[in-house]
Amino acid sequence: MRTKIVAGNWKMNKTLPEAEALILELKQKIKPDGKVAVIIAPSFVNLPKAVELLKDNPIKVAAQNMHFADSGAYTGEISADMLKAIDIDHVILGHSERRAYFNETDEMLKEKANQAYKKQMTNIFCVGENLEDRQKDHHFEVVGKQLKNALFELPIQAYKKIIIAYEPVWAIGTGETATPEQAQEMHHFIRETLAKKYGRDLADKVRILYGGSVKPNNAKEIFSKPDVDGGLIGGAALKADDFQAIVEAAKS
Ligand code: PEP
Repeated sequence: MRTKIVAGNWKMNKTLPEAEALILELKQKIKPDGKVAVIIAPSFVNLPKAVELLKDNPIKVAAQNMHFADSGAYTGEISADMLKAIDIDHVILGHSERRAYFNETDEMLKEKANQAYKKQMTNIFCVGENLEDRQKDHHFEVVGKQLKNALFELPIQAYKKIIIAYEPVWAIGTGETATPEQAQEMHHFIRETLAKKYGRDLADKVRILYGGSVKPNNAKEIFSKPDVDGGLIGGAALKADDFQAIVEAAKS
């Protein structure tokens, strides 16, 4: 039995006072339990406040990105040690917006995934095909390559701290969602790909989240699929009521 996870990716939204207000609302409304774990990923400048406000709360805090080097001349970047020093040990890596707008390649993401493993951070690793890949029926090939290129040199024990997020690029922020069947089909493919490489036991334990226009009105159906272990939520994570409803959908 895999505990579900609902993670909110706030992207480049919320000033410090706005982030504070949203976190206080989430604290009141959201009660993670044995059935669902909850993670939020505010922007870097809001992370220390988020950690402080959620100190004795089961909602966990993640960063949206980090650099692969320990330290050095990388202006504007943030290291794993900087995150760990403020008690952050979860990080989203390989989000499609990072891949598309900031040229993050599989090679770079491999370095980042290695760094997350080395620093014992939980890596919420995003994969997903774009619209053209889907239309050409290349989606399994693309997602399979993203996994293999970045993650498959890691030892099996690294997967204790890896969560995969399948996010079809054509469904992110577009209002268009993969059907529950499309999500299940890809999640099953990801699990089988992991099973072939690392064995059934490992594959059955890894949580695979779906992301792409998950809303309160579609979450329950998507989360009901056997290989879908929760969601990575963008837009709907910015409203406490919507995020709460999605967390509730993951419990049922
Ligand atoms: C995301 O960017 O991770 C995401 C899933 O966004 P949205 O829910 O807004 O489609």
